[in-house]
Amino acid sequence: MRARSTRTFRLSGFVVACLLLAILPAHGLNLVNRFSPLNKERSPRRSTEYIILHTTEGPAKGSLDKLRKYGEAHYMVDTDGTVYRIIDRNRIAMHAGRSMWQGQANLDSVSLGIEVVGYHDRPMTNAQKRAVKELLRQLQSVYKIPDSKVLPHSMVAYGRPNRWHPSPHRGRKRCAMLMARSSVREELGLSGKPSFDPDVRAGRLVVADQTLERVLYGADPAAGSGASAGEAASNVIRPGRSAWDIARGRYKSSDTLYRFPDGRTRKGSEIKDWSKMPTGTEVIVGNSETESESSEDRVQEIGKDGSNAWEIAAGAYNDAETIYFLVDGRVRSGVELSRDNLDTLPKGTRMLVGYVHGGVLSKGRSAYDVAGPKWNLASTFYRFPDGSIVSGKDIDEKNIPSKAMVFYPK
Ligand SMILES: [Zn+2]
Repeated sequence: MRARSTRTFRLSGFVVACLLLAILPAHGLNLVNRFSPLNKERSPRRSTEYIILHTTEGPAKGSLDKLRKYGEAHYMVDTDGTVYRIIDRNRIAMHAGRSMWQGQANLDSVSLGIEVVGYHDRPMTNAQKRAVKELLRQLQSVYKIPDSKVLPHSMVAYGRPNRWHPSPHRGRKRCAMLMARSSVREELGLSGKPSFDPDVRAGRLVVADQTLERVLYGADPAAGSGASAGEAASNVIRPGRSAWDIARGRYKSSDTLYRFPDGRTRKGSEIKDWSKMPTGTEVIVGNSETESESSEDRVQEIGKDGSNAWEIAAGAYNDAETIYFLVDGRVRSGVELSRDNLDTLPKGTRMLVGYVHGGVLSKGRSAYDVAGPKWNLASTFYRFPDGSIVSGKDIDEKNIPSKAMVFYPK
């Protein structure tokens, strides 16, 4: 009798649990499937330690198109709270680009990425806050992720050395910067946040954006608005304010325009000598719809973006679609290299993850013949015989050397 009632109780408990499970995923979330065509080809993640929050820096439609096209997020949260699924949550999405936290590089291999439609220096809508809060609650419970590992992209992105910063540096992006503020985190159901930058403290990176540093780790309410509002007003180069201060990681992008005091306009990709940039030049950043990884971020390098192939490509490191540009000049895919080779690739080996080799150009075979309409996309890369790698958006159609190899995303 007793045993039987326990069993009935267990059974009804089981039924209730099933009902809850059936109801819960939808609870409070308007989930819509808009899976990327790349979804099925993405490798499963081995572990999930972080959730990275992003802002699209552009309107919903164009952002969704681009995120789907390149598989650059797991979810996108629209201004009305609709949550679009783009990459299956157990697979790898390419959202964090050049990134590091606590010494771990390439966070794509261990994180989920949520894009919030909006801008790094503007608040989310109430509908977005509710949706992001519920989405975080569900994902954190599935993957056992503590609040301290839910981080805005700007906290983990870093830049390689450039003209203004000779060392690897934090401050490459301001993506989702306001989501570091305690008041915003509270609204998202998050308590606590990192109080300092662990990679800066350990000497792995330096701070290259004082404003961002204040917003991420400074005293709260005053930090964000005041400082960033003052900066946003100024997009003119002057002493103490460089192209990099204004355009950050996109300073030499073809989407960033420079209007010189004499009225001439040049694209960032066309500027050769940055030391000759005249005071008074106006910088217009980004015609492109979404915050995209600048193309140079897709070409990753052992020694800069990770200490080995695994850190950069995770489970995809020995795939046919991971391309290695070896320092001796050979080009090989992951399946063409043995495990031993892959484990001992030297610093300076460059990699493209999720790419196919389209072919080699020759006199009778143009870039268009090989890549079709993708020939001049930012995500298409040309490897010249001299070893240099150039993005399709920076390519000069008339000056592509014969024997250049063409690679585009699978
Ligand atoms: Zn981002």
